Amino acid sequence: MFNVETIRKDFPILQRQVNGKPLVYFDNAATSQTPQRVIDAIVDYYSNYNANIHRGVHSLSQEATDKYEEARLKIQKHFNAKKSHEIIMTSGTTHGINLVASGFTSLLKKGDEVIVSALEHHSNIVPWQMLCERSGAVLKVIPMNDEGELVMSAYDDLLSEKTKLVFVNHISNALGTINPIESIIKKAHAVGAAVLVDGAQACPHIKADVQALDVDFYVVSAHKMCGPTGVGMLYGKEEWLSKLPPYQGGGEMIAEVSFEKTTYAGLPHKFEAGTPNICGGIAFGAAIDYMNNIGFKKIDAYEHELLEYATKRLLEIEGLKIYGTSKHKTSVVSFNLNGIHPYDVGTLLDKMGVAVRTGHHCAQPIMDYFKIPGTIRASFAFYNTKAEIDVLVEGVKKAKMMLS
Ligand code: PMP
Repeated sequence: MFNVETIRKDFPILQRQVNGKPLVYFDNAATSQTPQRVIDAIVDYYSNYNANIHRGVHSLSQEATDKYEEARLKIQKHFNAKKSHEIIMTSGTTHGINLVASGFTSLLKKGDEVIVSALEHHSNIVPWQMLCERSGAVLKVIPMNDEGELVMSAYDDLLSEKTKLVFVNHISNALGTINPIESIIKKAHAVGAAVLVDGAQACPHIKADVQALDVDFYVVSAHKMCGPTGVGMLYGKEEWLSKLPPYQGGGEMIAEVSFEKTTYAGLPHKFEAGTPNICGGIAFGAAIDYMNNIGFKKIDAYEHELLEYATKRLLEIEGLKIYGTSKHKTSVVSFNLNGIHPYDVGTLLDKMGVAVRTGHHCAQPIMDYFKIPGTIRASFAFYNTKAEIDVLVEGVKKAKMMLS
């Protein structure tokens, strides 16, 4: 049974007040909150076995190494990677994307084409633009429509034997649209192109199966799925990770070093230079355990209820427009009040204890499409309630009255 009141007790922060009002946290797409189990994993690490990993013979180092590698196995199992060395520990989605974009520099030549979508976060645009500058490859864009969906017929037209790489997000952070990545991947593979899927917004809602998707790269951040900041994972098919050169040089990623020649370690260490976020990695594993204990099917069903309720209630407000109206979307509502700047609404909502995000959400091309400076974005997690949505709706009504 899914009992939200029991679940809420797992999150100490949900008990606090903000500006004298109970916190209503609707900025989950920016970062999720942390359950006690994950906080405990962090405290346990620093209290009991803080040590550097992979190179110590002493007990603490062994213990930390075992726990860290255990976390990698949990991540492997969760995303159903075939091999644990296909999981590269990163500092987050941005790091994972930059690692792949950097690696492709030597694999692309002038005139090759790479395809991005109009629905991307800046971190899945800028590293590829930098790659194009380095390699002479050309960036093509899958356009979007008024519902905030990708125009798949245009994607078909963009694909050709020149296409080497396609990078799209699984779910848009600004609008919540779930993209048809299965079809995007199949079509890219049909012309011999590799696909990177940015799963930053999908990981809190969907249990992605990288083998079933047949995706070449999949990247996430732990902090989007109840884990800590500064840690994430890059999944890459072994054949691709073997082809890509190392991203950073340093300790941990080498086999032998001499001034004449250095050879690199095998996977995954080739991509893991330096001391990693050991505690973060272990806590990431604890977050995956926590979410799986609740169950992604239950999470998805409950969050859809929240999405439907919030959409219906917000649309009762005259002059309120929702951006991103696809039937395939997750629990994100991006909206504006006619003639009122989103920032002003966000500031007033904060006074009422309601945390929403305002602005372009690092997705300026989407805002340009709608010809707006930004939106107010309320993003719901499985620990939110309909009663909290009522507080948001009343707050938006009040803000409208004060700002009109
Ligand atoms: N892609 C998407 C879709 C995101 O929502 C985010 C985080 N807002 C990122 C990438 C970047 O994630 P991080 O800042 O954790 O690297």
